[in-house]
Amino acid sequence: MKFIVVGSSHGGYEAVRQILMSKPDADIQWYEKTNFISFLSCGMQTYLEGIAKHVNSISYATPEWAKKHGVHVFIQQEITKIDPKAHKVHVVDHKTGKERDESYDKLILSCGADPNKLPVPGSNLKGIYAMRGRDWAIKLKEATVNPAIKNVAIIGGGYIGIEAAEVFAKAGMHVTLIDRNKRLLGNYLDHEYTGMLTDEMETHNVNVQMEQSAAKFIGKNGHVTAVKSEMGTYPADLVIESAGIKPNTKWLKGVVDLTPRGLVKVDDYMQTSQPDIYCVGDATTVRYAPTGKTARIALATNARRGGRFAVMNALGAHKKVPAVSGSSALHVFSYQFASTGVKQDSAAHFGINAKSTFVVDTYRPKFVPNKAGNAKVYFKLTYDPQTMRVLGGQVMSKMNETGDINVISLAIQQHLTVMDLAYCDFFFQPGFDRPWNILNVVAQKALRENN
Ligand code: FAD
Repeated sequence: MKFIVVGSSHGGYEAVRQILMSKPDADIQWYEKTNFISFLSCGMQTYLEGIAKHVNSISYATPEWAKKHGVHVFIQQEITKIDPKAHKVHVVDHKTGKERDESYDKLILSCGADPNKLPVPGSNLKGIYAMRGRDWAIKLKEATVNPAIKNVAIIGGGYIGIEAAEVFAKAGMHVTLIDRNKRLLGNYLDHEYTGMLTDEMETHNVNVQMEQSAAKFIGKNGHVTAVKSEMGTYPADLVIESAGIKPNTKWLKGVVDLTPRGLVKVDDYMQTSQPDIYCVGDATTVRYAPTGKTARIALATNARRGGRFAVMNALGAHKKVPAVSGSSALHVFSYQFASTGVKQDSAAHFGINAKSTFVVDTYRPKFVPNKAGNAKVYFKLTYDPQTMRVLGGQVMSKMNETGDINVISLAIQQHLTVMDLAYCDFFFQPGFDRPWNILNVVAQKALRENN
């Protein structure tokens, strides 16, 4: 059996791994249009901050690994067309300029997404960067040590914009973060958290400018010098656009069915509208556990899960991909947070009837001083007030309490209730925890509030 896997980031890598596990004798062709296999943007911040020393280390697979396992890797070779009836793809080799067709039995697409480029005047000026992929990682790294860059403007205050702001503020630059939303990280957290995180950013010299969008890039001698919004003009020797992504699917039009937003439509088995073509990752959708509906949640975890299930199903397993809760985590200077599922502040917008309970407690028993490793923990549990089914959770602390959110994700997936959490058996040891875990505490409070 011959597999062709398109894309070598999270989804493509997992697909290759699953083929090696389930059908080691399969013929595997693995295509990547850039000149590097399996760069993982998730690790970019660690490289930019000097924790990971080399850009090439931000990767899981190497050409040597692939070769050792008999995988045929094609770097700088792009799949530009698919003929589903003939089971053929068209390959353009960017190194040689040569073109050819290749046949497949099963085709796995993990062609991902590209950063949005803002269609505003001045967008062709030099010094306007994005933060995704190895090429941008190299350019951004150079920028962190470029003495000519004093002011950095970041457009978009989601996860990527926050990572960029932290990198450049730590590098000693003056950072302005511009976002058209009301609240920083508003898609991931409710107002109890976002206000504290905005203060945290400002404490670290990040100028947070909300409820305005970049209307124009101003330049001198072909290079950007400032960003103009409806509310002000901000100096910028470097601009980083982190205002969302668009699926890399234009080339798939007419081959597989796409949603109006250009995402590849897949069923619960990751199969596209064509029988032997599967699609995973940022180019497609997932099923969202709290609502049971499809949603766009661009996370590496979803790409990886999708890659595994696509291959299992291509080999005839007929296994439904489990619905996801959209679990994610990040740090913002000294705070670490994680969230999953429904947020109270946006529940109504999605037509979800939700109620929440918020607690502030400590990471370890109160007799442990902060200096010895204690800190406040802010936990919010969201649930259906009629059925008391768990719908979501958010946690933040200066200690690492993020793992609790994985429990909430499981609770959402398994349709558990607040009562299930309230007296669930969680360990206690003063070195790590309190006699009642924060999940017990918040669920017990929710029960009292809904008596
Ligand atoms: P992509 O990562 O977009 O990769 C697609 C690959 O396919 C690319 O290498 C591309 O060159 C190649 N390709 C595309 N078309 C073709 C073609 N026709 N022929 C050949 N090759 C092709 N997610 C998390 O879960 N946790 C995190 O901490 C996290 N941090 C992130 C930090 C940053 C800065 C960024 C940018 C993203 C982060 N993400 C994180 C999101 C995560 O990186 C994506 O969800 C994930 O990379 C999606 O994987 P993918 O395989 O769908 O596609």
